[in-house]
Amino acid sequence: KIILAIESSCDETSAAIVVNGREVLSNVIASQIDIHTKFGGVVPEVASRQHIEAINAVVTEALSEAKVTLDDIDAVGVTYGPGLVGALLVGLQYAKGLAYSLGVPLVGVNHIEGHICANFIEHKDLKPPFVCLVVSGGHTFIVHMKDYGDFEILGETRDDAAGEAFDKVARAIGLGYPGGPKIDKISKEGNENAMKFPKANFHDDTLDFSFSGVKSAVLNYLNKMNMSGEDINKADVAASFQKAVVEVLTDNVIETCKRRKVDKIAIAGGVASNSALRKSLMEAGDKLGIDVLFPSMILCTDNAAMIGSAAYYELIRGNIASLDLNAKPNLRLGER
Ligand code: ATP
Ligand code: MG
Ligand code: FE
Repeated sequence: KIILAIESSCDETSAAIVVNGREVLSNVIASQIDIHTKFGGVVPEVASRQHIEAINAVVTEALSEAKVTLDDIDAVGVTYGPGLVGALLVGLQYAKGLAYSLGVPLVGVNHIEGHICANFIEHKDLKPPFVCLVVSGGHTFIVHMKDYGDFEILGETRDDAAGEAFDKVARAIGLGYPGGPKIDKISKEGNENAMKFPKANFHDDTLDFSFSGVKSAVLNYLNKMNMSGEDINKADVAASFQKAVVEVLTDNVIETCKRRKVDKIAIAGGVASNSALRKSLMEAGDKLGIDVLFPSMILCTDNAAMIGSAAYYELIRGNIASLDLNAKPNLRLGER
């Protein structure tokens, strides 16, 4: 099955051609980062407008790069949530029009399921069951993926998402937007033991996360230093913050594997490209005989290829959407 997939949930307009959920013929991504950087974050109204301007060219390029025509397309897959409602609607309306005019099925895809499925593109032999750590700009989940389309959420953040914490701390130390990659980079020159930032400590056996505590601790530290006029070592702050986040992510996901007796972890979402997280999980996995898998960097952040993979597994299970499918900004994983 050849699927044309469309993604427009946030600030990337993307279209991809994916064969049987695993083989990517093209994956065109138009990023709006340069525009939103001026505002220090994604402006929803601006994002929608940019999607409208970009989408037709992005789809056309995806087709031509893949050397296929619209007649070759067996289904159209599209993200319908979660995300910014105005942004989602642009991709969704475009996908509906295309599916209707071609007379092919429309498949609505959950964006987070897409992030997880990025691993199927990278690792051709990977099959459920496995434990997945989803760490993106808006979400942080530990998921037991038991089968295609069968997700059990075992832990999630009670406040900020992991990527959100990276972005806020980066902004506070003056690194700019988007902050995750910048913290990752500058941390390499810093001492991760320079400051001790607190980790959330729930007094029960939860696998949930909290990142607002460590974020506030960093902000308080910066305020204190500014007030007393002392120099701030940005690299040390970044590295110490990153260490606190990476440790709790690693601990909880390893604990999940032990509880569920699963020996495979797949990481997904933008923060999955963090080099310290990758290293920490690989080392922990090595010790326990747990396989740790990551998508390549380009498949970690938003892209339509991952949506095309998820759409394929929805399609073969018969999950075809009707043309009145609406955008669902708060769509939960495993729900429709
Ligand atoms: P969601 O998928 O939850 O709707 P999103 O699509 O905005 O949110 P992604 O595109 O998956 O999120 O990821 C973007 C996030 O990943 C940003 O918060 C960014 O700072 C973070 N990120 C990207 N690269 C890195 C990195 N190397 N280290 C840490 N964080 C990173
Ligand atoms: Mg993005
Ligand atoms: Fe995303």
